[in-house]
Amino acid sequence: MTEVDKLTPPNFIRAIVRDDLKKNKNNGRVHTRFPPEPNGYLHVGHAKSICLNFGIAAENDGGLCNLRFDDTNPEKEDVEYTEAIMEDVHWLGFDWEDRLYYASDYFEQLYDYAVRLIKDGKAYVDSLGADEMREYRGTLTKPGRESPDRNRSIEDNLDLFARMRAGEFDEGRYVLRAKIDMASPNINMRDPVIYRIKKAHHHRTGDKWCIYPMYDYTHCISDALEGITHSICTLEFEDHRPLYDWCLDQLPVPCHPQQIEFARLNLNYTVMSKRKLNELVNEGHVSGWDDPRMPTITGMRRRGYTPAAVQDFCERIGVTKNDTVIDMSVLENSVREDLDKTTRRVMAVLRPLRVVINNYPENKTEELDAPYHPNRPEMGSRKVPFSRVIYIEQDDFMESPPKKFFRLSPGAEVRLRYAYFIRCEEMIKDKKTGAITELRCTYDPRTKGGNAPDGRKVKGTLHWVSANHALQTEVRLYDRLFRVPVPDSTAEWKSSINPESVKILKDACVEPDLARAQPEEHFQFERLGYFCVDRKDAVTGRPVFNRTVTLRDSWAKEGNKAK
Ligand code: ATP
Ligand code: MG
Repeated sequence: MTEVDKLTPPNFIRAIVRDDLKKNKNNGRVHTRFPPEPNGYLHVGHAKSICLNFGIAAENDGGLCNLRFDDTNPEKEDVEYTEAIMEDVHWLGFDWEDRLYYASDYFEQLYDYAVRLIKDGKAYVDSLGADEMREYRGTLTKPGRESPDRNRSIEDNLDLFARMRAGEFDEGRYVLRAKIDMASPNINMRDPVIYRIKKAHHHRTGDKWCIYPMYDYTHCISDALEGITHSICTLEFEDHRPLYDWCLDQLPVPCHPQQIEFARLNLNYTVMSKRKLNELVNEGHVSGWDDPRMPTITGMRRRGYTPAAVQDFCERIGVTKNDTVIDMSVLENSVREDLDKTTRRVMAVLRPLRVVINNYPENKTEELDAPYHPNRPEMGSRKVPFSRVIYIEQDDFMESPPKKFFRLSPGAEVRLRYAYFIRCEEMIKDKKTGAITELRCTYDPRTKGGNAPDGRKVKGTLHWVSANHALQTEVRLYDRLFRVPVPDSTAEWKSSINPESVKILKDACVEPDLARAQPEEHFQFERLGYFCVDRKDAVTGRPVFNRTVTLRDSWAKEGNKAK
């Protein structure tokens, strides 16, 4: 293996491209495209396709990748989506430069080619209704039947098609079909519809058209017009490849790209069909396409995923022809690994419990030195204020602890990170509820920095913040959106939405320095996880934090417990 091979492990598509280059196919050009339909926001499955298409272009000299909006379904499409898609592709780290295209730019050319197919006797106008057409099409085991209109004269076809375009007919009255083979074992080849009447306003062409080309017909021609060499798509198009090739073989297009299919990304504990994501948004199950629980690129970004993590994930899962479901933990590990290297450690207390250190002077504040990263001195350090009253995590105290609880309990001693050992002397309880409202502790001044001069050891180290100095902030704990691995498997998929997928904590406390944190800045809250400043809701001086991911895979633990 060469160095480059190690960086970019081969997948079968890369292998095809390299082989083509060796043979000087396409005059040594590599030109791919990413062709989203602007009918929703991009999700992590699209990220796989983006990384693959832009990645293959980037790793070959002179390779190019286009961004093309596949905008042939006017009713479902919107400029909101085109803009969001462009922002997401850029955020992921890819650039189409001056190669931004729209299938709708080819409507005139596509129409001319359709006229040509008619003239060549390879397309006809059909008046069968949708139900009849389905009936005539046959099944996997039964060949189709020819429509009575199949042998309409070329003149009549040309006339009707022109009048379809002119808006003379209602929707559904006529369609244009390719004349291929009603007995083909491949149903896609049984005279597929290539144009239908749709009296819909298009977000780019306005009301200019009332007939729109079908995806299969549009896609291959768009690829050819742009000089695409490798048209990479997902496996469900494998059966459409003969049609892709048929269209291009009939027409005087500039080139004939090669369609190559790969398995789409499926991820557990989420859904990825745009229709379902749309439902989640429209029915208010999430706050929007950018809700941090959504598998959308914009949602992941808001949650704190990084472009490097998403790219790394797409590289790790590889590209194959086998349909598999990838475990969410693979994605979570990618972001953990990236953030582990790059983020500063700071202290935050999510559910504060007040601790008074009885023997610490009332009006004293110490500024304790705390490095931002245990193994990266180049990341520097900051001073954290320490004083008589601090907050620790409610979880870090138990009145009657089980055996291996190394945190705080009555009489026990623990280390406060970067500070001192403290011992719990007393608990204050709410008279009515019995809830613990405060701990009274003592500290050992000789343990500054976290070690005892007499060599005595403590097992637990707790994070904390000084009560008087802390910044109170909102922290949102996000978890997986669904409780079950494959929510898609039932019609009642929405009933398995995880009711615990977001918890909003309003009383969290963080180090005072975090008042200066900027939107989208990432931190590790020690012992808790990776968090990111929300890019929408934060106001200057009072950031809101989203939990990107916990430090360890808590779901794996749950799974093991269940076993
Ligand atoms: P959906 O079925 O959710 O509506 P789609 O495939 O229709 O998605 P497009 O906008 O047409 O969405 O997709 C653009 C490109 O992204 C296509 O080339 C498609 O094959 C690819 N793509 C879509 N979903 C995935 C996925 N889960 N994994 C990999 N590639 C995907
Ligand atoms: Mg599609």
